Amino acid sequence: MMENAALSGRHALVTGGGTGIGLAIAQALAAEGAEVTITGRNADRLSQVAQGGLSPQAMDVRDPASIKDGIDAARAARGPVQIVVANAGIAEGMPFHDMTPAFWDNTMSTNLTGAYLTIQACLPDMIAAGWGRVLAISSIAGVRGLKGAVAYTASKHGMIGLIRGLSEEYMRAPVTFNAICPGYVDTPIVDRNVVAISERAGISADEARDTMIRANRHKRLIAPEEIAAAARWLCLPGSESVDGQTIQIAGGQV
Ligand code: NDP
Repeated sequence: MMENAALSGRHALVTGGGTGIGLAIAQALAAEGAEVTITGRNADRLSQVAQGGLSPQAMDVRDPASIKDGIDAARAARGPVQIVVANAGIAEGMPFHDMTPAFWDNTMSTNLTGAYLTIQACLPDMIAAGWGRVLAISSIAGVRGLKGAVAYTASKHGMIGLIRGLSEEYMRAPVTFNAICPGYVDTPIVDRNVVAISERAGISADEARDTMIRANRHKRLIAPEEIAAAARWLCLPGSESVDGQTIQIAGGQV
């Protein structure tokens, strides 16, 4: 453990912390001395990346009992949770006229209800400790519509509503609540979307990837570490008055 680092003695929990943006955030917080629980459904993958201050915890955010058990186990092992990053998410597209209630429910349950339940399970620890940071990884789809992804767009708008509501409700508590809204980030989600878009549109994988590169205003994919840098800042001393914000990291205005 890094005794004098800014986040030493803090327990951070990052959902979806075994891959992509979540893993980069987990590593950035661990580099500041936090003990970090990384969660996800794929326990083997979590174990493979869990090193240097990261500890794995299997947990499915669609299942309230799994969230409770997972957070209880993390708390028992590493103490009260003082930083929670609601990052677990799926980004599946579907034309609106084809969308089924099951598809809608799965997106909402993972992205929005999962974030709500995770935050609700961790917040009492933060209030009791007198310090806490709540981050939600929304998306540019949280601030504008995304064609072919109505459920994803609604879930990511919902995450911003969740954060704004919490910021108001806990205004005088020693906890801040912020949403980060990335543009297209170079992670497994983008890799899966490349396959889906190229199949749906009948274009090559390179062309499909190019549509996402062009959608970012600065015309390149964002590195996961760029999102992690903002998350890290929101957890370090000096950001105490940043609360209830939606921070776009998209290479320009959305
Ligand atoms: P990844 O697919 O790498 O990350 C998604 C993570 O969520 C995985 O670690 C996955 O773990 C976890 N997850 C998915 N479903 C569940 C579930 N039911 N229970 C628990 N964990 C789950 O992609 P990213 O890193 O890109 O995505 C992270 C977040 O960033 C998502 O919320 C995404 O919407 C958001 N985002 C991503 C952008 C991008 O361009 N990449 C842009 C804007 C926002 P496991 O499979 O083990 O469950």
